[in-house]
Amino acid sequence: MVQRESLSLLSNNRWRSRIEHVVSYIHLAIKQAVKSRCRYRFGAVIVKGGRPLAASSNIARNDPRIDYRHASVHAEEAAVRRVTVTRRAIIYVARVNIRGDLMIARPCARCQKVLALAGITWAHFTTSNGLETMRIGA
Ligand SMILES: [Zn+2]
Repeated sequence: MVQRESLSLLSNNRWRSRIEHVVSYIHLAIKQAVKSRCRYRFGAVIVKGGRPLAASSNIARNDPRIDYRHASVHAEEAAVRRVTVTRRAIIYVARVNIRGDLMIARPCARCQKVLALAGITWAHFTTSNGLETMRIGA
């Protein structure tokens, strides 16, 4: 039953197109994560009106006073800093490990605040077995 409903969703062009967009943008986020030079490799892409506006990896900081937890500018925040108009935008966040496997990339509490302030409404993020979606600032 569930399977039949899923199939009918996939045969609906509007849904198929949306799913294809989600996959293509998360792929862009994965490419950003692969480029990261940090120990934990994250990438983020901000999309608005069906167009990618900004993308970034997380960025290492070189300040020894910063504790390990805050050792990088998170990819979400780095991407937000690269655009001015983020209202009603969607962010795609990916994390890969050293072997290139997808890992959980749920935005942290701090990034969720940054995203909410920027007006970003949804986040799609990788997990170790696929994708999850969360509402921002709800
Ligand atoms: Zn974060």
